[in-house]
Amino acid sequence: MKYIPPKFTRLADMAAIDVGRLTEDEARGILEAIRWPKGPVCPHCGSIKITRLNPKSEKVRDGVIQCNDCRGQFTVMVGTIMHRSHITLRQWVQAFYAMCSSKKGVSALQLQRNLGIHTYKAAWHLCHRIRLAMSEGPLADGLKGTVEVDETFVGGRPRQSVINKYYDPKQFCGHGSTKIPVMVLVERNGNAVSKPIERVDSFNLKSAIIENVNENSTIMTDEWQAYKGIGKNFKGGHKVIKHKDKIYVKGDITTNTAESYFALLKRGVHGIFHHVSKRHLNRYCQEFQFRWNHRKLNDGTRAEHAIQGIEGKRLTYKKAVC
Ligand SMILES: [Zn+2]
Repeated sequence: MKYIPPKFTRLADMAAIDVGRLTEDEARGILEAIRWPKGPVCPHCGSIKITRLNPKSEKVRDGVIQCNDCRGQFTVMVGTIMHRSHITLRQWVQAFYAMCSSKKGVSALQLQRNLGIHTYKAAWHLCHRIRLAMSEGPLADGLKGTVEVDETFVGGRPRQSVINKYYDPKQFCGHGSTKIPVMVLVERNGNAVSKPIERVDSFNLKSAIIENVNENSTIMTDEWQAYKGIGKNFKGGHKVIKHKDKIYVKGDITTNTAESYFALLKRGVHGIFHHVSKRHLNRYCQEFQFRWNHRKLNDGTRAEHAIQGIEGKRLTYKKAVC
């Protein structure tokens, strides 16, 4: 029997093997359909009256569209994170799919090899732009219901020689260390918000909670003193689980959902990315938050959601490195 390759038009229906087979034109079709579900819209003036230029002429690049109103020309990349990118569209779609389908993320080095991107620098920049596309604005009504809040410390271990020389257990773990504090706020069975914070103090923790959580919610934390008094801002109050007494669940009081979020983040940061610097940690947090908040979807649909975030965002290499 002759093998007939399956025909897909939507990313949501595709497995990794199908995404790997996409041609450049198919990838463009997929990106256009996600960006403009009702047909192309001119990014210069917003008109929907457009003409596709004939790519057969040598002077015209593939996928160029001309606006009938402002006469401006554009492609699906204009006005998105892909603006002026030299990476092919099929590599972009595959990179989106890879970063959305792997639970702990993919390293830039791995993407460079898998997609045949020439330099590590280009792959690294690609990854950070995809993280930017994944970044979500604050939820309109805030997190709701039971919201678990916890903080952890993320960052590379100091070199062994440094540890031997200056070993001070307090300095390398937990509160008071030089690692970067990250906090997570997570609805039970729902969405999460995670971000690095300057310091694990009452002001930072409480303002992040008030900013991100709906006032009708119940807050659950461990006994860390900085959370004390947060209950008065929320109708459901503040419930505390005492980790110091080795109690992790008491009735419905637990921060285990927040702990499992951190378990994923830490396995990603330490196992995949090895070292994440302070200035980029925010984008890694957004990547993990995006995957968490879309965890119930299949890989292709999750990638479609990430691609919907490309519009109106830019991250030049220069801006990404500093
Ligand atoms: Zn126009």
